[in-house]
Amino acid sequence: MPEVEAAKMANVPEFLIVHCSDSGWGDASVIDAWHRDRGFDRLGYHRVILNGFRTYADMKSGVRKDVGLVELGRLDMEVGAHCVGYNRRSLGICLVGSGVYPVQQIDALRQLVNELRSQYDIPVHNVIGHHESQSGAQEGKTCPSLDRSMIALRMPELRQSLEVSSSTP
Ligand SMILES: [Zn+2]
Repeated sequence: MPEVEAAKMANVPEFLIVHCSDSGWGDASVIDAWHRDRGFDRLGYHRVILNGFRTYADMKSGVRKDVGLVELGRLDMEVGAHCVGYNRRSLGICLVGSGVYPVQQIDALRQLVNELRSQYDIPVHNVIGHHESQSGAQEGKTCPSLDRSMIALRMPELRQSLEVSSSTP
């Protein structure tokens, strides 16, 4: 394998970093196009979790489809492009949405986090929101605007209160 290729495959997941798309709609291919438009290589995340609205028209129709579907972005071994300082030691997970998420989407996040935690032996305190990373905090990020949910990811017994908060518009 050429050196450059080897370097791209050098991600060792120690953290799971949760982001949001900060949009009402989207999916992996839509966000990929947005990232390219902004001059990035391509989609910087490893997973995208749908809120049921892939397109603007879907959002306008109000009919959700595939809520909680997990789409694949970069390969896990591939260095991400989502959080300065963490891109070689984390997986980036993007929730489509902006602060309000359907319960099924949060359930999908919880399940994905559990799977990835056991697959890569990631401790629960290394599951963080983008705003909790050092660089995210310095940049003033609020992403994914999901504090209570992040707490609930770490403490499953808080699940009930999460469902109350996330079902409130
Ligand atoms: Zn983010």
